[in-house]
Amino acid sequence: MEREKVIIIGSGPAGLTAAIYTARASLNPLVIAGSQIGGQIALTAEVENYPGFWNDEKTPTGPELVEVMQKQAEHFGARLEYDEVVEVDFSKGSPFYVKTYGKEYMADAVIVTAGASPRRLGVPGEEDFIGRGVSYCGTCDGFFFRGKDVVVVGGGDSALEEGIFLTKFANSVQVLHRREELRGGVALQKRAFDNEKISFTWNTVVEEVVGNGTVQAVKTRNVKTGEMAERPIDGVFIFIGHYPNSKFLEGRLEMDEHGYVITDELMRTSVEGVYAAGEIQDATYRQIGTSVGQGVAAAMQCERWLSTRE
Ligand code: NAP
Repeated sequence: MEREKVIIIGSGPAGLTAAIYTARASLNPLVIAGSQIGGQIALTAEVENYPGFWNDEKTPTGPELVEVMQKQAEHFGARLEYDEVVEVDFSKGSPFYVKTYGKEYMADAVIVTAGASPRRLGVPGEEDFIGRGVSYCGTCDGFFFRGKDVVVVGGGDSALEEGIFLTKFANSVQVLHRREELRGGVALQKRAFDNEKISFTWNTVVEEVVGNGTVQAVKTRNVKTGEMAERPIDGVFIFIGHYPNSKFLEGRLEMDEHGYVITDELMRTSVEGVYAAGEIQDATYRQIGTSVGQGVAAAMQCERWLSTRE
């Protein structure tokens, strides 16, 4: 069993920021990075709205931002372990038990920044065609749809941003939205409406993904008229929101009815010495900037709490 001062679970913007701050406070943090360093920003094509990181020659990408954050954390002494947490026990208080696939740890304090994952539609065919036409990441898979016709499901910022990105490759991008009003921000809406490759189909939901080896069509239903249609298509990109990666924390920390970890304004969870930051506890803002801010706050509170115990 290895003993640590601070374990940070997750390596998105909140986790890497908490790592920078706790490392600079000489706490020698261990980051259990999960399956993807950087979390969701590692899958983000362009980062236009994170202050201080923009330039007018080329819009920076998510992986570029992750790389800088990781280097900065490691420069100050954070250690990254490429592993996933499978179990925690916070019931006896500090030190806390944390188990990964590979190791067992005891940690004086824990900062949970395990983030969120894309939601699935839950329709027939969706699971069968993941990686064969169904995708949750335009940045990762857009390249495979060069000259092809794709649909994007959803009407939020992600659907619009990824839909615009997909026009770099695809011949056409058809946005299917269940209402007739978009949820995404006005600036993105304008860019999408102005893009000649993007069309919108309103009041429409996907009922089934069909194909033979790869996706060939989606069956859709108009929620107002009930009319069914089969739309021949090469790819289905789904952007309908996220769910928090908090399954391993069930019964360990207080959560809301959607599984988001409950924190107070000091990023404290229901267990003293366990903090949470980023999308695992924030269903409202979900921005790189807000996750970074929450990571700072969690790290500072964690450091203060540890120093009162010494
Ligand atoms: P979101 O804002 O929750 O939007 C999800 C979209 O999917 C909504 O349009 C929703 O429809 C639709 N939807 C949900 N469940 C559905 C279902 N079962 N079938 C069909 N459609 C469904 O999620 P998001 O777009 O991932 O954005 C999440 C957060 O990240 C937001 O705060 C957003 O501002 C932020 N974000 C920001 C940027 C940026 O600033 N550049 C980029 C990406 C994301 P309804 O509208 O009818 O609910």
